[in-house]
Amino acid sequence: MVGDNVGAVDGLVDRFGRRVTYLRLSVTDRCNFRCVYCMPAEGVKLCPSKDLLTFEEIRVVVETLASHGVRRVRVTGGEPLVRKQLPELIASLKAIEGIDEVVMTTNGYLLGRDAVALREAGLDGLTVSLDSLQADRFSKMSRGGSLERVLESMELASQAGFERIKINAVVIRGFNDDEVLDMIEWSLERGHLLRLIEFMPIGADTFWSDGNDNGCVPAAEMQAVIGTRWAMEPLGMKTGAGPARYWGLKGPASPDGQGRVGIISAVTQCFCDSCNRIRLTPQGGLRACLADDSEVDLRAVLRGGEGPEGVYKAVARSLWGKAESHSFDLEGGAVTMKQMVSIGG
Ligand code: SAM
Ligand code: SF4
Repeated sequence: MVGDNVGAVDGLVDRFGRRVTYLRLSVTDRCNFRCVYCMPAEGVKLCPSKDLLTFEEIRVVVETLASHGVRRVRVTGGEPLVRKQLPELIASLKAIEGIDEVVMTTNGYLLGRDAVALREAGLDGLTVSLDSLQADRFSKMSRGGSLERVLESMELASQAGFERIKINAVVIRGFNDDEVLDMIEWSLERGHLLRLIEFMPIGADTFWSDGNDNGCVPAAEMQAVIGTRWAMEPLGMKTGAGPARYWGLKGPASPDGQGRVGIISAVTQCFCDSCNRIRLTPQGGLRACLADDSEVDLRAVLRGGEGPEGVYKAVARSLWGKAESHSFDLEGGAVTMKQMVSIGG
């Protein structure tokens, strides 16, 4: 029975021998953008702030996970920078023994305001989501976001000491798929590491379920396009890091072949066999897999007074129920009811 084996192995390991070393920590379900691939135009039902895990509750969860092998935390959301006093949380996560790296994914809108404070709090790295370099398109994809402001914020973040900022771009047919080459060249010229992401069918009532199920541009197609401008050398996945498969590029803006681009292909080339991550929602829902809505309620465990041992047992139980792999059905509907904005990507 699931749960009987909890504690039988050292660290957080699932039934298929995959060890968890990485937590995606969503700190809010609120966002100042409304990206078409992430949430419905009218937004999502928000939870009251009393239902969010407090910073202290988050610290207890992360400390417990760190004592069982988690080494890296990615802070995400919603938009993480709309959560008040975020740098305080970053500093408290950085102080946890065993946590080697705290990084963050942001839409960049508030980054100019917070970059210095985040750096001082010890944040190790930044990923900015940027789907287009054309202001009108950017605004259309984010339903109102300002490209100019995000680019300014990235500049301020570089000045604050964030080096080699990563960029995430979700590639959607008919929206920005004709910009892949320009975005790569632009990123290479500025020393950013671009990752191109396949559009995933996550969340009900989204752009996908509205009949845009041909929006996903498969990784193989992206590779073919990239190969028209650069000679490509496969570099595989970076151990312990995210799920991107990297390519070395030789050609424009990278004559020595040192330039890189990553492709995250959760839909057409799943990477479940190397999955090292779990996710925590802002309300304390522990998700063993992005594509599975089953969540274990860590907030109830914490507020029920079960302490770190209760947290560990609940996480281990959830992990024991983790499926071997997910499958995104391009013809079918979304694989989860929850929207990406409420999960954290
Ligand atoms: N608001 C922050 C941001 O946009 O960077 C962090 C949260 S966002 C949910 C995290 C990542 O998920 C972003 O890089 C976004 O592009 C990606 N994402 C959201 N919906 C997606 C989808 N349907 N398919 C693929 N990636 C998606
Ligand atoms: Fe907000 Fe990020 Fe989702 Fe865009 S991708 S709506 S910025 S949470």
